This record gives sequence, C-alpha cells and structure tokens, in this order.
Amino acid sequence: MAHDAATPIDPGAKLVIRNIGLLLSGDIGRPILDADAIVAVGGRITAIGRVAEIDMEGATTVIDAHGCGVTPGLIDSHVHPVAGDWTPRQSQLNWIESTLHGGVTTMISAGEVHTPGRPRDVVGLKAMAVFAQRAFTAFRPGGMKIHAGAPVIEPEMEEHDFKELADAGVRLLGEVGLGGVKDGPTARRMVGWARKYGIQSTIHTGGPSIPGSGLIDSAVVLEADTDVIGHVNGGHTALPDREIRCICEGCQRALELVHNGNERAALYAMRTAREMGQLERVILGTDGPAGSGVQPLGILRMIAMLSSLGDVPAEVAFCFGTGNTARMRELDTGLIEVGRAADFVLLDRAQHSAGRDVLECVQLGDLPGVGMVVIDGLPRIGRSRNTPPADKVPEVVA
Ligand SMILES: [Zn+2]
Repeated sequence: MAHDAATPIDPGAKLVIRNIGLLLSGDIGRPILDADAIVAVGGRITAIGRVAEIDMEGATTVIDAHGCGVTPGLIDSHVHPVAGDWTPRQSQLNWIESTLHGGVTTMISAGEVHTPGRPRDVVGLKAMAVFAQRAFTAFRPGGMKIHAGAPVIEPEMEEHDFKELADAGVRLLGEVGLGGVKDGPTARRMVGWARKYGIQSTIHTGGPSIPGSGLIDSAVVLEADTDVIGHVNGGHTALPDREIRCICEGCQRALELVHNGNERAALYAMRTAREMGQLERVILGTDGPAGSGVQPLGILRMIAMLSSLGDVPAEVAFCFGTGNTARMRELDTGLIEVGRAADFVLLDRAQHSAGRDVLECVQLGDLPGVGMVVIDGLPRIGRSRNTPPADKVPEVVA
C-alpha cells in the first residue's frame, strides 16, 4: 500500500455511501448539507441527497457510514516532500502514508527544499522541479494526491525560465524567500512572470525557520503579492501582530495558517480575517516535515485548535482545511459537490470525548476518530491507526 503507483480510475466504478450521520460540505457559505448519501461514478461525485431520492442501483462499492460524519478529504496546503515517501529532515520513512491516516488526501508542496545538496543554479533548480512534478504525479502512497515540483526562485532567473517550467508541467512556486530572492521588487517581478504562465506562488512569512534562512516581513510579503501568504503565523517565528494585520488588510490573497507556526499568531490572523468578514481566505497547512517533525494529524490538530481556542464552529474550521484551500488553490477536490473528486474522510466523535458528537468533540479541542478515507471513489484505509478510536466505524458492505 505504501508504494502505490497512481491507480487508473475505472470509469464504470460506482460508489455509494449511505447512512451518513453528518455531511460537511467544505463550503464555508453552507458548511452542513441536509443529506445522508453520496454517489460517485468514475471517481467523481454524481449525486448528494437522501437515500430515498437518489439512484443507488448498480453500485460496485457500498459503504455503510453507520451514522459517521463525512467531510471532503483534507488538504495540506504546505508540505516539503523530497523524494518518495522519505523525509531527510528527520530521517523518516512513510510520512505521507501516515498523513493519509490523519484524513489528508491532497498535499501541496511549498518547495522540495530539504533535498540534500539541492541545486541553486537555474538549470539545476528547474530540473529538480520537473523531476519532483513528474515523480509525485506518478507516485501516490495510499492514493495521496501530491502536487509537487515547486522551485524556489533565485535572482538569476529570467522570464523565459518561468515559461519553460510551465511548458514542462510545473504549476507551483516554492516559498519565496527560501532561495536567494528576499527583496520585494525582485519577488514581485518573478511572481508576476509565474502568474502569467499559470504557476501559483507562495511566500515564507516571518522570521528565519532554520539557521541560514532569513526574515520576510509584511512589506516584502505585500510587495511580492504571491497567491498564498505562506504561514502568515510564522514558520516558526511570527511577525508582530500589527504586521500580520497589515498583511490581512493589505491584500486579498489566501491566509495560510500552519501547524509549525506560532499558534497564538494563527488565532490572531484567523480572528482578524473574521473581523473583516473574510474567513474564506483562511487555509491550513502543516509545513511538515521540518524541524518540528512529521505531523500526520497536523491538519486535524489545526482544525481542533482553531475551533476550540478561536471559538469557530467545528463545521467552519473543517472548511479551512478543505473547500477554502480547494478554491484558493484551484483544485477539483475539497468540496462535496457534483463533479468534484470523490475524496472523503469518514469520522466520528472520539471515544470518551466530553463532546457528545463529532462537532462538539472538535469544538472542545479533541481530535475526531477517522474511520475510513476514500480517494477517487476508492476506500483506501479503514480505521486510522493514528487518530483516537471513534464510537461509530464505517464499513464496506458490498
Ligand atoms: Zn517557510
């Protein structure tokens, strides 16, 4: 399971999930759906509704949720993969497959920066980006979708380099600031070139992450104008609150909160976005693996932290790690919507949580128990080995 190649999707495969106790949509405008069943054909959602109303004939797989909640597969907007399911930073194997057990079905690289001997010259960094994009498209541990191949910009790059990267299939930039470009004007010029060729960008916000990296303050962040404000809560060291506010108010870009950042600053940024009526800009990442290690439950932990300490309804906090990210990142997953990828997490209240149901469990700061993860309409794991056991456990019945 840990070394799966991408599984071809059978266009005739029909999945039915029934007896859903709570359906979380991922859509912050309407986070809970009034439905108890989902149908997916060929890995895409084709119907959402009540069992009595929808066509469940000819199902090739039937999952009885036994009253569990269902959420779109979680998205980690900020990871640092290197090669295969290995991270050199803490010398660990199978961190991606372990993260699947934390309900994450899609990961986005913020740069393959932990690659030992990572090339800094333009030809070398482009080659590494193309390699990572290809390798992680073909390599899907447990079915995990890994968007990688995220070069970190260097001052010698020219416009044609961005075109060349885009033509080769590269769709992301790694964190601006982790390479030689640390000033606003150069970053802005290159981010503009990237955007022109359809490449999304992110930036390292805050103090240096490890010896040798540098400070990126609010002035540089706003001038660079990346699509995502990478770890606006620092990674690890946060900017002062006034600078975080200045970033939130000074642009309309995605506000990414990461597990490896400053938790108090994450709450401050989230509250600022809420005051502005712009919670749809809040997206989640782990920034793992890194100095803080591998965090298979990092996205669930962010959801529980923001919900419990930030007084956000759990169903809204789930949107931060699903639909918000999908929209900001232009992904075809992350929402329970007809036409979207059939990527789901089935979960329930952890046993012995003081919360009476899964939402109250999360609002009290407990992690939910993951009972099953489905990617592209295929059940990939049953009960998670990493989360606490839940009361209700889904079952493949046909
Ligand atoms: Zn960073």
